[in-house]
Amino acid sequence: MAPRRVADTYGGYRARLVEVLREQGISDMAVLAAIGQVPRHLFVPEALRNQAYDDTSLPIGNGQTISQPSTHARYLQALRLTGTERVLEIGTGSGYQTALLSFLAEHVMSVERVAALARGATKALDEAGCTNVAVAVGDGSLGWFPLAPYDGILVAAAAPAVPEPLVRQLCDGGSLVIPLAHGDSQVLHRVTSRAGQLEHEELGTARFVPLRGRHGFNEGGTT
Ligand code: SAH
Repeated sequence: MAPRRVADTYGGYRARLVEVLREQGISDMAVLAAIGQVPRHLFVPEALRNQAYDDTSLPIGNGQTISQPSTHARYLQALRLTGTERVLEIGTGSGYQTALLSFLAEHVMSVERVAALARGATKALDEAGCTNVAVAVGDGSLGWFPLAPYDGILVAAAAPAVPEPLVRQLCDGGSLVIPLAHGDSQVLHRVTSRAGQLEHEELGTARFVPLRGRHGFNEGGTT
């Protein structure tokens, strides 16, 4: 079920952001419509609300950032959702991308390793009227087995390699969108599962925080 629309005074700013993204080549109408409706100001710290509709990343606490809207748009476009899918998101962060997904898919399961971020995201998603989402605290590099398989999986942090459990939790025909780190650079990958075979596509450069956990980089360190 699509979330209810929240009445606020930021509608004009959202409309301008949608124009900026359109000029940058974002063409997926459903993605643009979701960005035009999700109240991003609810997902950024109160002191930064005046920048909520700029195309910039912003700090959200716990050393993490909410990505630039254009990054979210490019990323969500890559999943090619039609509205009927069950989606798994790894790295809830602020919950903004989770909210965009809630407009674009049937159900969203999102896993975040930092409990404080998961709490904040749950509250903002509730305020934004997103009822078709669930947020859990855990190591998302293991996926989320209870609701598997998923039509789409989106990883919002850069991994050293494609985590095997995520591939196993994809439906036939489903896609996993994930940034992979190669030294100092990152490339966005789309991995699609078809009849037991995996198709790999590279979708350009990316810039994300590291995925931690069992199939990510070391918990505390830089490798
Ligand atoms: N898309 C988010 C930003 C994500 S930043 C937004 O819109 O705000 C990446 C997030 O991934 C961070 O919150 C980080 O804590 C989380 N993360 C990193 N490794 C993880 C793991 N193994 N499991 C779950 N979340 C993880």
